[in-house]
Amino acid sequence: MADQPTKPTQASLNKKAAQTTSYKPSGVSATGRKARSFAIRLWSVRNARFLEWFYARFADAFLMLHPMWKAVGYERAEAPVKFVEKHVKGFLFDCRMCGQCVLSSTGMSCPMNCPKQLRNGPCGGVRANGNCEVEPDMPCVWVQAWSGANRMKGRDNILNVQKPVDQSLRETSSWLRVTANAAAEREAAANPGMPQ
Ligand code: SF4
Repeated sequence: MADQPTKPTQASLNKKAAQTTSYKPSGVSATGRKARSFAIRLWSVRNARFLEWFYARFADAFLMLHPMWKAVGYERAEAPVKFVEKHVKGFLFDCRMCGQCVLSSTGMSCPMNCPKQLRNGPCGGVRANGNCEVEPDMPCVWVQAWSGANRMKGRDNILNVQKPVDQSLRETSSWLRVTANAAAEREAAANPGMPQ
């Protein structure tokens, strides 16, 4: 006699659903982030004042190098600069290379680590312990952002309304974009009559 087909159990149905949909239930990290990343990310928030000071000097140095970037070509400089930026900011902030960095306005806490990618404050689901509702082990990036911003000279920058993410800028260098924009503004100020 042929075997009767067995009724699928709830566990097997759940397993199949997990394999066939992108939905991940609460309590499961969608990205498998490690506690180590949180430790370094939290260090960056605690040292937001120092990083703010350091970045101001770094941005000035990058701007001083504008003639070199221009001679090499910003497009040609993109790949090596992006490589360095990705690794440095990936280590310090768990950067997702959105290409339009707002760390100076978010207490050195990267908002792209929010599972909902909110750029203007937290959702209503922050847990009582200050962790994320989607990733319960992860401190809410916006709770951290508020804490970091309060350590910074530019603490009020967190009140600036951020534009929606421009997805076309993903995986590009914020450092170079900020430098090119600052150089263009500086040249416009020096030559007010010149067309840009
Ligand atoms: S805001 Fe964008 S560029 Fe800045 S750290 Fe986050 S993902 Fe990276």
